[in-house]
Amino acid sequence: MSQFKQFITVLGATGSIGVSTLDVVARHPQRYGVFALTAHRQVDKLFAQCLQHRPAYAVVDRPDDALRLQGQLDAAGCCTEVLSGAASLVAVASAPEVDMVMAAIVGAAGLVPTLAAARSGKRILLANKEALVMSGALFMQEVAANGATLLPIDSEHNAIFQALPSGFTQGVDGVEVTRILLTASGGPFRRKPLAELAAVTPEMACAHPNWVMGRKISVDSATMMNKGLEVIEAHWLFGAPAERIEVVIHPESVIHSMVAYVDGSVLAQLGNPDMRTPIAHAMAYPERVDAGVKPLDLFAVGQLNFERPDLERFPCLALAYRALEAGGIAPAVLNAANEVAVESFLAGGLGFDRIAAVIAATLDSVPQQAADSLEAVLAADAQARELAAGFVRQSCR
Ligand code: NAD
Ligand code: MG
Repeated sequence: MSQFKQFITVLGATGSIGVSTLDVVARHPQRYGVFALTAHRQVDKLFAQCLQHRPAYAVVDRPDDALRLQGQLDAAGCCTEVLSGAASLVAVASAPEVDMVMAAIVGAAGLVPTLAAARSGKRILLANKEALVMSGALFMQEVAANGATLLPIDSEHNAIFQALPSGFTQGVDGVEVTRILLTASGGPFRRKPLAELAAVTPEMACAHPNWVMGRKISVDSATMMNKGLEVIEAHWLFGAPAERIEVVIHPESVIHSMVAYVDGSVLAQLGNPDMRTPIAHAMAYPERVDAGVKPLDLFAVGQLNFERPDLERFPCLALAYRALEAGGIAPAVLNAANEVAVESFLAGGLGFDRIAAVIAATLDSVPQQAADSLEAVLAADAQARELAAGFVRQSCR
């Protein structure tokens, strides 16, 4: 164990990944300390987290929330300083006191602070896959140019990282990998008759069979856009071309992903579906620490099953491959359109079965361009959001 305590900033501390991260932190008080916690609107939850973890800083979105939280913390005798706004997210992700940044904001809102962590050479624990999907080439360049360390939290990518040779830094071509096998549970609608998908409600879509997650990623899992985003994520993290990333439906979610080698070996990482495993792995890497996760009981699991994904049922998966192959800003457009469509679905607007059509129409409408600067990526994101909102309105009429 390193002799110094490691300080972490948790971006998105009040979310599902944030809470699991703080659970791992609390199990190892000699090893980890909290520098900053951030939240968007869940100020009461952030207050309780500040009392427990005593960070130097807390960040919320609105100045009035910051003022209220500061008052509550002062009254409780907690010395945390409360900040607000996007610039404060960047500040706590790049402060010199910070060793590690857990990037667990959901969606495009996490891009700028996560990029700031890369630019300041931090160990980045990447849960916020949307950030990498939007800005892949740029993000990886910033990581390399600034000596940052990028460790995947997504359970599949963490599994792949564990199944690659230790210290893996090059693209998969350099290590005789033939295929990356990305496992997917298939979500709650793997067997639902296609004609019933139009009547799916947000509650039905968010009831994932194996994982408890935030609402946006739960819907993404139900459409399998989550797996599509993960294919793009794997491309950037492991330098793997699209044709060597294969999605395998594995309904038990026990094998978290696999790597196939040229000699016929297939290495897998297994475990209970509990995000504290990849979180603890990435926090302690290359060491191992207790994550509070129940041991895997293979006798209780009994069987492991595998199926090919059905692209008629899951058109979002095909759209993600299309965006990856198109390159440039296409993945950012795909991501933005998906965020708009899912938000409308969760708010009771767009039908579940219309999500893919909105994304496809948006991909068709935004002219292709290079994604070679943050400005280009953010402009594509903004343009795609506007167009997608128009397609959502048409679909809801
Ligand atoms: P969540 O909705 O539970 O939490 C999101 C967090 O982001 C909250 O703390 C929220 O306050 C914050 N946030 C939301 N909008 C924001 C904004 N505009 N500005 C600043 N902060 C904002 O989501 P989650 O399930 O914890 O997922 C977080 C990220 O991790 C997502 O990118 C998701 O794809 C990824 N991920 C999650 C899981 C999981 O098991 N939950 C697994 C793999 C990857
Ligand atoms: Mg995943």
